[in-house]
Amino acid sequence: MSWISYAAPTVTHTIDCVVSSLQSSLHNIGVTQHSHVVAIWLFFAGCGVLQLCLSSLICTPIERIWPLTSWPQRNPIAADVTYAFFVRIVLFPLVAFFEYDWLRQQLDGVFLGHSLTPPSLVALVPALVSWPLLSFCIYFAILDCSDYWRHRLSHRYGWWYGVHSVHHAEDQMTFWSDERSHVLEDAITYLWLIAVGLLIGVPSFQFPFVILGFRFVGSLAHSNTRISYGWLGDHIFISPRFHRTHHALKAAGRRSCNFGTALSWWDILFGTAKFQDNTVETGDAGAEPAMVTGSWAAQQAAGFRRMARLARRGRKAHAPRATS
Ligand SMILES: [Zn+2]
Ligand SMILES: [Zn+2]
Repeated sequence: MSWISYAAPTVTHTIDCVVSSLQSSLHNIGVTQHSHVVAIWLFFAGCGVLQLCLSSLICTPIERIWPLTSWPQRNPIAADVTYAFFVRIVLFPLVAFFEYDWLRQQLDGVFLGHSLTPPSLVALVPALVSWPLLSFCIYFAILDCSDYWRHRLSHRYGWWYGVHSVHHAEDQMTFWSDERSHVLEDAITYLWLIAVGLLIGVPSFQFPFVILGFRFVGSLAHSNTRISYGWLGDHIFISPRFHRTHHALKAAGRRSCNFGTALSWWDILFGTAKFQDNTVETGDAGAEPAMVTGSWAAQQAAGFRRMARLARRGRKAHAPRATS
């Protein structure tokens, strides 16, 4: 099947079998129109939910057995759970596969229409075709690097931090907090990653799995646990301690560090890594209460309000000084 080209034959076969059996189940219950599209949607939504279950199976016991901190009264986590399922079931299949695949086909069409080779890493290094796992790891690292810069820039510009601060407002950080983000930030993140993915030619089938990899490492990194990855682990992956430093009260906004998503290499390489820190408290003192403990809708509205406030302040800061 073309939609899963460039994958290892066994992976291709397994996915093809799963999608085909989903499609025949849909036929059995009378869903015949667009059954292939629905089957692919169910496949990726299922992968997203499975990743969430795996993260939950790992993070729930480590947060219970080796917690970093505890709170006398737990904030409601309904909004965080809403974020997690909304992203996995709706946003992830829609954007990470269907939108990406559609754009991939359009771009390939334009290039091939002009007798040009579409941009891709495989075109640059043809040997990678025989090494699908290696090419996946390279795509993962490049997209992770690009996400480091997206995150770092979101702390640089006031309006952008306004929406990103929905993520930082969490004062009881647990593995559920990974998904807490503003819809506008989700849109920017996906557009950013899609643009880089298209530029380096990530195959449509691999792109969603890179995103799932980010979410898996991200869930662990937000855990409320004192478990350490050790010196080597900390210098490869984003660990709970490393990411908690990014969420420290004193690190909200422009003064932050540790911007990485999955790999800590980029913070080390670009001089923003801070390892020796024992942050426990997280949050953003500038966040209004609705952004901290409000419902999903209240958090989103508070994000827009803060974005507008910080954008106005940014314009004033950059306005030329009046001469007396
Ligand atoms: Zn941040
Ligand atoms: Zn975070």
